[in-house]
Amino acid sequence: MADCIFCKIVQKEIPSQLVYEDEQCVAFKDLEPQAPVHVLVIPKKHVESLLALTDADRDLVAHILVDVVPQLAKKLGVAEKGFRVVANTGEEGGQSVKHLHFHLLGGRSMQWPPG
Ligand code: 5GP
Ligand code: ZN
Repeated sequence: MADCIFCKIVQKEIPSQLVYEDEQCVAFKDLEPQAPVHVLVIPKKHVESLLALTDADRDLVAHILVDVVPQLAKKLGVAEKGFRVVANTGEEGGQSVKHLHFHLLGGRSMQWPPG
């Protein structure tokens, strides 16, 4: 989608530190990491948020959460001690980029409740 920064990352029109890529999704390091490990896992297809997902996206979301996130957590060395997956959604959810993304955070103890 034009003017979407994450679509531009998918298209490699703007650079990112990619840590994973397949036909359906990419993962890259967050520009402003909030933990020693902080990557964003996003569908290549532009979907605005969790709220914009449809029945047709079931396999895509399952792929990201069942296949990619656990594999990445292992690859990035946070699977054993634990990690957090966050999908900020909408204004009060703190979503600043309107292209669905799952934050994968780890490498330190997470606090609860989140800020
Ligand atoms: P949100 O606030 O929408 O949940 O998360 C958006 C995330 O994208 C933020 O953590 C922010 O640091 C990250 N981000 C925004 N623009 C860029 C960018 O151009 N490159 C990368 N790698 N991360 C970005
Ligand atoms: Zn997009």
